[in-house]
Amino acid sequence: MLKELIDQFYLDRHRDREQYHFYITDAGKCGRAIFFKFKNVPREQMEARILRLFDHGDYIQMQILNTLFSLGIVRSSEVQIPPQALVSGRADAIITLNNELYVVDFKSMNSMIFRKLQEPKEENVNQIQLYLHYFKIEKGILLYMSKDTSELKDFIISYNPKLVQGLLTGLEDLDKKIKADIIPERLADWPQNWQCQYCQFKDICASSDEGEVKWADFKKKIEKLGEQVV
Ligand code: SF4
Repeated sequence: MLKELIDQFYLDRHRDREQYHFYITDAGKCGRAIFFKFKNVPREQMEARILRLFDHGDYIQMQILNTLFSLGIVRSSEVQIPPQALVSGRADAIITLNNELYVVDFKSMNSMIFRKLQEPKEENVNQIQLYLHYFKIEKGILLYMSKDTSELKDFIISYNPKLVQGLLTGLEDLDKKIKADIIPERLADWPQNWQCQYCQFKDICASSDEGEVKWADFKKKIEKLGEQVV
C-alpha cells in the first residue's frame, strides 16, 4: 500500500554509497567507521522512519533560515568551504550580528535530548571549528532546535586553532590508512561510545580484532561469511 511505497522511496533515495572524500562531519569521528564507508563495506540499513526524521529536521532548519533572512542578518547560506584536497562541507549560514561575522550551524533533535543539552555536543563543535578555520571567521553559533517543542538553544563557539590542527591531523592520518588499506583500531571505549550505539558497522566491527587490521585479510574473512564487498 501507500506506506510501503513511501518507505521504499526513502530507502532508494538514501541507498548507501561508497565514500570518496572526507566530509566536515567526519572530523573527530570513529576512523574505523569512516574507513568502512570508503571501502563500501555492507552496513545495516537505516529504517525509512529514521530517514523521514532526518528530512523533518532539514525542514525545521529551513524555517529557521527563513527567519534569519527575514531579520536581514544572513550574508550567505549553504556556503561551501573553499575547495582543498582534504575535506568538503557546507555551512548552514554566515550572518552578521553587531557588526561581527558568525558561522551558524543548525542542529535539530528530539525534546528529550534537547532538555538534557547543557553544552554543545563535541561532534558539532568539531564541525563548526573546521568551518571557522576554512572561512577564516573567529566566531560561530551552534543553534539547537527541539523538533517536537520548537524550543531553541544557542552556543557561541570561538575559533580554537589547536583543536582544528588536531582534527586535520586526524583526517590526514586516516587518509594514509585508507590509502594503505589498514583498518584503524576500534574506539578505545567500544562498544559503550555513543558512536558505536548508532554505528551501521557495529556487527562487522565486532567480528574484527580491536587493533589495526589489514583490509585484504579482513575482506577475505567477511566474504567467507557471505557479505559481498564491492
Ligand atoms: S562499532 Fe564503534 S568502534 Fe566499531 S566502527 Fe562503529 S563506531 Fe567505530
